Amino acid sequence: MSTSPEEQGFENVKKLINDICRRMNISETCRLRLTGCERELTVRFPVKMDDGQVGVFSGYRVMHNDTRGPAKGGIRYHPDVNLDEVRALAALMTLKTAVVNVPYGGAKGAVVCNPKELSQAELERLTRRYAAEIAVLIGPNLDIPAPDVGTNPQVMAWIMDTYSTMRGYSPGVITGKPLEIGGSKGRFEATGRGCMISALLAAKHVGINAEGATVAVQGFGNVGATVAKLLAKEGCLITAASDSRGGVYNPNGLDVESLVAHKAETDSVVGFRNAEPVTNAELLELPCDILVPAALEHQIVEANAPSVKARIVAEGANGPTTPGADKILYANGVFVAPDVLANAGGVIVSYLEWVQNLQVFCWEEAQVNGYLQSMMTNAFAEVLEISVLEKVDMRTAAYITALRRLATAMTARGIFP
Ligand code: GLU
Repeated sequence: MSTSPEEQGFENVKKLINDICRRMNISETCRLRLTGCERELTVRFPVKMDDGQVGVFSGYRVMHNDTRGPAKGGIRYHPDVNLDEVRALAALMTLKTAVVNVPYGGAKGAVVCNPKELSQAELERLTRRYAAEIAVLIGPNLDIPAPDVGTNPQVMAWIMDTYSTMRGYSPGVITGKPLEIGGSKGRFEATGRGCMISALLAAKHVGINAEGATVAVQGFGNVGATVAKLLAKEGCLITAASDSRGGVYNPNGLDVESLVAHKAETDSVVGFRNAEPVTNAELLELPCDILVPAALEHQIVEANAPSVKARIVAEGANGPTTPGADKILYANGVFVAPDVLANAGGVIVSYLEWVQNLQVFCWEEAQVNGYLQSMMTNAFAEVLEISVLEKVDMRTAAYITALRRLATAMTARGIFP
């Protein structure tokens, strides 16, 4: 979906922060500090490719704010990523950690590359070099990366190993690690599980019965596939799913377990039996109760927002809905569980992983999932209460929650020197 330049990236997030700070009398210091990033690092580095040539790659690590704790946020590998997008995603992390009240700030990193076109050996060399480049900024008490689009636990393991080689054993420098080296049970599914929890809470609020509710999922990666699996277990009917190559639709429901197997075999949901093809754009406009955008930014825009038929949008992705589209959805009575709330399950369990690393202790999955359930439920209730009280949409309410928390923390810490 195309958007006008002013509807993109960091400008979107800044505009909302500005509007809400002014409207709610949130401190000017808070507004000014959050409409820019604290630290930005751009790196450019060589990587030896398998054919003997040298590739030169660009990467970023942006720390948006660390008032409430060490900065926190994922690392994205994508061919189209740019600094403005990383700034926007870093700012969303500051808001997200504040909404769900984990003691972190916000950051994000990225490497401009197509991980699907790299061999494992190339991916490892690229990752280790990027980790060495950003080692000046990251650390268990400074800035703690995690997985995002295009990265996975193996990439986290290489970053942990590279950093530990430079600075000594440091499992707490990164989260989303494999279980064997300090990862947490429940982390891999956490973003999807949190999104499922918020979709069910939204359904309860608007009076939709989960049993038989129809769900369309855009993006069938870690987040989308997990949401689909977990919502299907709750009795929902997953009627559509898509990935970067296209989508599939069956109004009577897709067999999610077989769809996951099909994707594992063929690398895509496309071609799945007993389903008709749909494009990613068509999927967003299908009749359904719950729409889960779980791919990339700027999918629901002013042009297609009037055609969204879902009663609930649960944002598994970061920034899938533009501000213009938000207004249209709200006016049409669509309940949006915003990214900073609905996809916060990942960073919540990242926090639990980090706590386990600091404690040098390992929790059972039930304990991790129990914390996730209660933290998501509390945050959802808090944001919903503000949304009702202030008569605003859930995104505005989430930003109000976060900005109040950030302003209070900034005042308490004061300014040095
Ligand atoms: N990349 C995920 C997000 O956007 C997880 C971040 C983290 O766990 O630090 O929320």
